[in-house]
Amino acid sequence: MAIATEVSPADFRTDIHPDWCPGCGDFGILNAIRQALAELNIQPHDVLTVSGIGCSGKTPHYIKSYGLHTLHGRSLPVATGAKLANSELTVLAMGGDGDGYGIGAGHFVNAGRRNLDLTYIVFNNGVYGLTKGQSSPTLRRGDQTRSMKEPSIQDNINPIAIAIAAGYTFVARGYAMDVKSMKAILIKAIQHRGTAIIDVLQPCPVYNDLQTAEFYAGRDLATAIPRVYKLEDEGFDPYVHDPDDGDEIIAKKVAATARSFEWGDRIPIGIFYGVDLPTLGDGFAAHRPDAPTTSIHKQAQPGQDVTSVLGRFR
Ligand code: SF4
Repeated sequence: MAIATEVSPADFRTDIHPDWCPGCGDFGILNAIRQALAELNIQPHDVLTVSGIGCSGKTPHYIKSYGLHTLHGRSLPVATGAKLANSELTVLAMGGDGDGYGIGAGHFVNAGRRNLDLTYIVFNNGVYGLTKGQSSPTLRRGDQTRSMKEPSIQDNINPIAIAIAAGYTFVARGYAMDVKSMKAILIKAIQHRGTAIIDVLQPCPVYNDLQTAEFYAGRDLATAIPRVYKLEDEGFDPYVHDPDDGDEIIAKKVAATARSFEWGDRIPIGIFYGVDLPTLGDGFAAHRPDAPTTSIHKQAQPGQDVTSVLGRFR
Protein backbone atom coordinates (compact mmCIF):
# COMPACT_ATOMS: atom_id res chain seq x y z
CA MET A 1 0.00 0.00 0.00
CA ALA A 2 1.40 3.40 -0.98
CA ILE A 3 1.96 5.79 1.91
CA ALA A 4 0.70 9.32 1.37
CA THR A 5 3.25 12.07 1.94
CA GLU A 6 0.67 14.80 2.50
CA VAL A 7 -1.55 13.92 5.41
CA SER A 8 -5.09 15.18 5.87
CA PRO A 9 -7.37 15.04 8.93
CA ALA A 10 -9.46 12.46 7.07
CA ASP A 11 -6.48 10.09 7.16
CA PHE A 12 -7.02 9.85 10.93
CA ARG A 13 -10.70 8.89 10.66
CA THR A 14 -11.79 5.38 11.52
CA ASP A 15 -15.05 3.81 10.40
CA ILE A 16 -16.28 3.73 14.01
CA HIS A 17 -18.97 6.33 14.64
CA PRO A 18 -18.27 8.37 17.83
CA ASP A 19 -21.10 7.63 20.24
CA TRP A 20 -20.61 10.69 22.44
CA CYS A 21 -23.74 12.68 23.29
CA PRO A 22 -24.79 15.54 20.95
CA GLY A 23 -23.04 18.77 21.93
CA CYS A 24 -20.25 17.00 23.85
CA GLY A 25 -16.93 18.86 23.88
CA ASP A 26 -15.14 15.60 23.07
CA PHE A 27 -15.97 16.11 19.38
CA GLY A 28 -13.98 19.35 19.31
CA ILE A 29 -10.96 17.72 20.93
CA LEU A 30 -11.08 14.81 18.49
CA ASN A 31 -11.22 17.18 15.53
CA ALA A 32 -8.36 19.25 16.92
CA ILE A 33 -6.18 16.14 17.37
CA ARG A 34 -6.81 14.97 13.80
CA GLN A 35 -6.14 18.44 12.39
CA ALA A 36 -2.96 18.96 14.43
CA LEU A 37 -1.48 15.60 13.40
CA ALA A 38 -2.31 16.32 9.75
CA GLU A 39 -0.84 19.82 9.87
CA LEU A 40 2.36 18.38 11.30
CA ASN A 41 2.33 15.89 8.41
CA ILE A 42 2.70 12.96 10.79
CA GLN A 43 1.75 9.63 9.25
CA PRO A 44 -0.97 7.62 11.07
CA HIS A 45 1.43 4.68 11.51
CA ASP A 46 3.81 6.96 13.41
CA VAL A 47 1.20 7.85 16.03
CA LEU A 48 0.11 6.06 19.20
CA THR A 49 -2.92 7.22 21.20
CA VAL A 50 -3.39 5.82 24.71
CA SER A 51 -6.47 6.37 26.86
CA GLY A 52 -7.84 5.46 30.27
CA ILE A 53 -11.47 4.83 31.18
CA GLY A 54 -14.35 7.24 30.67
CA CYS A 55 -16.08 8.96 27.78
CA SER A 56 -12.69 10.32 26.68
CA GLY A 57 -11.30 6.77 26.84
CA LYS A 58 -13.07 6.02 23.58
CA THR A 59 -10.98 8.54 21.64
CA PRO A 60 -8.32 6.10 20.34
CA HIS A 61 -11.14 4.12 18.70
CA TYR A 62 -11.89 7.17 16.56
CA ILE A 63 -8.33 7.98 15.51
CA LYS A 64 -6.76 5.88 12.78
CA SER A 65 -3.36 5.20 14.32
CA TYR A 66 -1.94 2.73 16.78
CA GLY A 67 -4.17 2.91 19.83
CA LEU A 68 -4.56 1.45 23.30
CA HIS A 69 -7.63 1.77 25.53
CA THR A 70 -6.14 0.90 28.89
CA LEU A 71 -7.27 0.74 32.54
CA HIS A 72 -8.67 3.54 34.69
CA GLY A 73 -6.01 6.21 35.29
CA ARG A 74 -3.29 4.22 33.52
CA SER A 75 -2.84 5.97 30.19
CA LEU A 76 0.41 7.67 31.28
CA PRO A 77 2.37 4.58 32.43
CA VAL A 78 1.35 2.69 29.29
CA ALA A 79 2.28 5.67 27.11
CA THR A 80 5.60 5.93 28.96
CA GLY A 81 6.47 2.30 28.26
CA ALA A 82 5.52 2.62 24.61
CA LYS A 83 7.59 5.77 24.10
CA LEU A 84 10.60 4.18 25.78
CA ALA A 85 10.28 1.13 23.51
CA ASN A 86 9.81 3.20 20.35
CA SER A 87 11.18 6.71 20.68
CA GLU A 88 10.18 7.51 17.10
CA LEU A 89 6.45 7.35 17.83
CA THR A 90 4.39 10.47 18.41
CA VAL A 91 2.68 9.45 21.63
CA LEU A 92 -0.55 11.08 22.79
CA ALA A 93 -1.82 9.98 26.20
CA MET A 94 -5.36 11.07 27.06
CA GLY A 95 -8.15 10.70 29.55
CA GLY A 96 -10.68 12.56 31.61
CA ASP A 97 -10.18 14.68 34.71
CA GLY A 98 -11.51 11.92 36.96
CA ASP A 99 -9.34 9.37 35.20
CA GLY A 100 -6.14 11.40 35.28
CA TYR A 101 -6.44 13.68 38.32
CA GLY A 102 -8.33 11.19 40.51
CA ILE A 103 -7.59 7.54 39.82
CA GLY A 104 -4.33 8.31 37.98
CA ALA A 105 -3.17 11.19 40.18
CA GLY A 106 0.13 9.51 41.08
CA HIS A 107 0.95 8.95 37.43
CA PHE A 108 -0.08 12.53 36.59
CA VAL A 109 2.43 13.93 39.10
CA ASN A 110 5.30 11.58 38.36
CA ALA A 111 5.07 11.91 34.59
CA GLY A 112 5.97 15.57 35.06
CA ARG A 113 9.29 14.94 36.74
CA ARG A 114 10.43 12.45 34.09
CA ASN A 115 10.11 14.79 31.12
CA LEU A 116 9.67 12.00 28.59
CA ASP A 117 8.80 13.33 25.14
CA LEU A 118 5.02 12.79 24.98
CA THR A 119 1.79 14.79 25.13
CA TYR A 120 -0.96 14.28 27.72
CA ILE A 121 -4.44 15.61 26.88
CA VAL A 122 -6.99 15.82 29.70
CA PHE A 123 -10.69 16.15 28.83
CA ASN A 124 -11.75 18.22 31.85
CA ASN A 125 -15.52 18.45 32.39
CA GLY A 126 -15.79 18.38 36.19
CA VAL A 127 -17.73 15.11 36.31
CA TYR A 128 -17.38 11.39 35.75
CA GLY A 129 -19.58 11.41 32.64
CA LEU A 130 -19.51 7.70 31.80
CA THR A 131 -20.79 6.74 35.26
CA LYS A 132 -23.62 9.28 35.35
CA GLY A 133 -22.02 12.48 36.54
CA GLN A 134 -20.43 12.10 39.97
CA SER A 135 -18.26 15.09 40.93
CA SER A 136 -14.64 14.85 39.82
CA PRO A 137 -11.50 16.43 41.36
CA THR A 138 -11.94 19.60 39.30
CA LEU A 139 -15.50 20.41 40.38
CA ARG A 140 -15.50 23.44 42.65
CA ARG A 141 -16.71 23.62 46.24
CA GLY A 142 -20.36 24.63 46.30
CA ASP A 143 -21.07 23.52 42.73
CA GLN A 144 -24.10 21.29 42.33
CA THR A 145 -24.62 19.87 38.88
CA ARG A 146 -27.91 18.37 37.80
CA SER A 147 -26.52 14.92 38.55
CA MET A 148 -25.74 15.70 42.21
CA LYS A 149 -28.15 15.60 45.16
CA GLU A 150 -26.15 18.16 47.12
CA PRO A 151 -23.43 20.73 46.40
CA SER A 152 -19.82 19.61 46.53
CA ILE A 153 -18.26 20.09 49.96
CA GLN A 154 -14.69 19.59 48.69
CA ASP A 155 -12.30 22.03 47.08
CA ASN A 156 -11.22 21.44 43.52
CA ILE A 157 -7.64 20.79 42.50
CA ASN A 158 -5.84 23.16 40.12
CA PRO A 159 -4.26 20.88 37.48
CA ILE A 160 -2.27 23.69 35.84
CA ALA A 161 -0.62 24.63 39.14
CA ILE A 162 0.08 20.99 39.99
CA ALA A 163 1.57 20.31 36.56
CA ILE A 164 3.88 23.32 36.87
CA ALA A 165 4.98 22.22 40.34
CA ALA A 166 5.42 18.60 39.23
CA GLY A 167 7.91 19.58 36.53
CA TYR A 168 5.97 19.40 33.27
CA THR A 169 7.95 21.39 30.75
CA PHE A 170 4.96 22.47 28.65
CA VAL A 171 1.70 23.34 30.41
CA ALA A 172 -1.38 24.62 28.59
CA ARG A 173 -5.14 24.88 28.82
CA GLY A 174 -7.40 24.47 25.81
CA TYR A 175 -11.11 24.96 25.23
CA ALA A 176 -12.86 22.14 23.39
CA MET A 177 -15.35 24.40 21.58
CA ASP A 178 -12.52 26.48 20.08
CA VAL A 179 -11.03 23.88 17.75
CA LYS A 180 -8.78 26.36 15.98
CA SER A 181 -6.93 27.46 19.10
CA MET A 182 -6.99 23.91 20.50
CA LYS A 183 -5.27 22.71 17.32
CA ALA A 184 -2.64 25.46 17.59
CA ILE A 185 -1.87 24.50 21.21
CA LEU A 186 -1.70 20.80 20.28
CA ILE A 187 0.79 21.50 17.49
CA LYS A 188 3.08 23.33 19.91
CA ALA A 189 2.67 20.59 22.51
CA ILE A 190 3.58 17.82 20.07
CA GLN A 191 6.53 19.82 18.77
CA HIS A 192 7.74 20.44 22.32
CA ARG A 193 10.63 18.17 23.30
CA GLY A 194 9.55 16.90 26.72
CA THR A 195 6.35 16.11 28.58
CA ALA A 196 3.50 18.40 27.56
CA ILE A 197 0.12 18.55 29.25
CA ILE A 198 -3.00 20.24 27.91
CA ASP A 199 -5.90 20.53 30.33
CA VAL A 200 -8.93 21.01 28.10
CA LEU A 201 -12.12 22.67 29.32
CA GLN A 202 -14.69 20.29 27.89
CA PRO A 203 -18.42 20.93 28.29
CA CYS A 204 -20.46 17.85 29.23
CA PRO A 205 -23.98 19.06 28.40
CA VAL A 206 -25.59 15.95 29.86
CA TYR A 207 -24.27 15.96 33.44
CA ASN A 208 -22.58 19.32 34.01
CA ASP A 209 -25.14 22.10 33.58
CA LEU A 210 -22.83 24.65 35.22
CA GLN A 211 -19.66 24.75 33.11
CA THR A 212 -21.51 24.72 29.80
CA ALA A 213 -20.61 26.20 26.43
CA GLU A 214 -22.95 29.09 27.30
CA PHE A 215 -21.08 29.62 30.59
CA TYR A 216 -17.71 29.75 28.84
CA ALA A 217 -19.24 32.12 26.26
CA GLY A 218 -20.29 34.43 29.10
CA ARG A 219 -23.96 34.46 28.06
CA ASP A 220 -25.02 34.89 31.70
CA LEU A 221 -22.81 37.94 32.23
CA ALA A 222 -24.23 41.43 31.98
CA THR A 223 -21.48 42.24 29.49
CA ALA A 224 -22.04 38.98 27.53
CA ILE A 225 -18.26 38.98 26.96
CA PRO A 226 -16.84 35.43 26.73
CA ARG A 227 -15.22 34.25 29.92
CA VAL A 228 -12.58 32.35 27.97
CA TYR A 229 -9.75 34.55 26.77
CA LYS A 230 -6.35 33.79 25.28
CA LEU A 231 -3.22 34.49 27.31
CA GLU A 232 -1.32 35.34 24.14
CA ASP A 233 -3.81 38.13 23.36
CA GLU A 234 -2.67 39.85 26.55
CA GLY A 235 1.03 39.56 25.77
CA PHE A 236 1.65 36.80 28.31
CA ASP A 237 5.04 35.20 27.64
CA PRO A 238 5.06 31.63 29.01
CA TYR A 239 8.50 30.61 27.82
CA VAL A 240 11.72 30.39 29.81
CA HIS A 241 14.35 31.95 27.54
CA ASP A 242 17.41 30.77 29.47
CA PRO A 243 16.89 27.28 30.93
CA ASP A 244 20.13 27.68 32.90
CA ASP A 245 18.70 30.67 34.74
CA GLY A 246 17.01 29.29 37.85
CA ASP A 247 15.62 32.69 38.76
CA GLU A 248 13.88 32.99 35.40
CA ILE A 249 12.40 29.50 35.78
CA ILE A 250 10.99 30.39 39.19
CA ALA A 251 9.63 33.72 37.96
CA LYS A 252 7.89 32.08 34.99
CA LYS A 253 6.44 29.36 37.19
CA VAL A 254 5.12 31.91 39.67
CA ALA A 255 3.54 34.01 36.91
CA ALA A 256 1.95 30.96 35.27
CA THR A 257 0.64 29.60 38.56
CA ALA A 258 -0.88 32.95 39.50
CA ARG A 259 -2.67 33.09 36.13
CA SER A 260 -3.95 29.52 36.56
CA PHE A 261 -6.03 30.52 39.60
CA GLU A 262 -8.03 33.06 37.57
CA TRP A 263 -11.58 31.70 37.38
CA GLY A 264 -14.82 33.64 37.33
CA ASP A 265 -15.77 36.28 34.82
CA ARG A 266 -12.47 35.61 33.03
CA ILE A 267 -10.86 32.23 32.36
CA PRO A 268 -7.49 32.07 30.59
CA ILE A 269 -6.60 29.49 27.95
CA GLY A 270 -3.36 29.03 26.04
CA ILE A 271 0.20 28.19 27.01
CA PHE A 272 0.97 28.91 30.66
CA TYR A 273 4.54 27.62 30.83
CA GLY A 274 7.24 26.24 28.56
CA VAL A 275 10.90 25.40 29.02
CA ASP A 276 13.45 23.29 27.16
CA LEU A 277 15.14 20.90 29.57
CA PRO A 278 16.84 17.50 29.13
CA THR A 279 14.35 14.68 28.53
CA LEU A 280 14.31 11.24 30.07
CA GLY A 281 15.84 9.97 26.83
CA ASP A 282 18.73 12.41 27.27
CA GLY A 283 19.16 11.05 30.78
CA PHE A 284 19.38 7.47 29.53
CA ALA A 285 21.91 8.47 26.89
CA ALA A 286 24.11 10.23 29.45
CA HIS A 287 23.77 7.37 31.92
CA ARG A 288 24.60 4.68 29.35
CA PRO A 289 26.71 6.32 26.63
CA ASP A 290 27.59 2.88 25.22
CA ALA A 291 23.93 1.88 24.73
CA PRO A 292 22.54 1.75 21.16
CA THR A 293 20.79 4.95 20.16
CA THR A 294 18.23 3.19 17.99
CA SER A 295 14.81 2.42 19.42
CA ILE A 296 14.39 -0.90 21.23
CA HIS A 297 11.84 -2.04 18.66
CA LYS A 298 14.49 -1.74 15.95
CA GLN A 299 17.05 -3.72 17.89
CA ALA A 300 14.94 -6.88 17.98
CA GLN A 301 13.60 -8.98 15.12
CA PRO A 302 10.30 -10.89 15.29
CA GLY A 303 10.84 -14.07 17.30
CA GLN A 304 14.20 -12.90 18.62
CA ASP A 305 15.02 -13.29 22.32
CA VAL A 306 15.07 -9.69 23.57
CA THR A 307 16.33 -10.47 27.08
CA SER A 308 19.75 -8.99 26.37
CA VAL A 309 18.22 -5.81 24.91
CA LEU A 310 15.96 -5.31 27.89
CA GLY A 311 18.83 -6.13 30.25
CA ARG A 312 20.61 -2.94 29.25
CA PHE A 313 17.82 -0.93 30.86
CA ARG A 314 17.93 -2.66 34.25
FE1 SF4 B 1 -19.76 13.85 26.59
FE2 SF4 B 1 -20.90 14.05 28.98
FE3 SF4 B 1 -22.06 12.56 27.09
FE4 SF4 B 1 -19.79 11.76 28.24
S1 SF4 B 1 -21.77 12.01 29.26
S2 SF4 B 1 -20.24 11.73 26.04
S3 SF4 B 1 -18.70 13.71 28.57
S4 SF4 B 1 -21.77 14.79 27.05
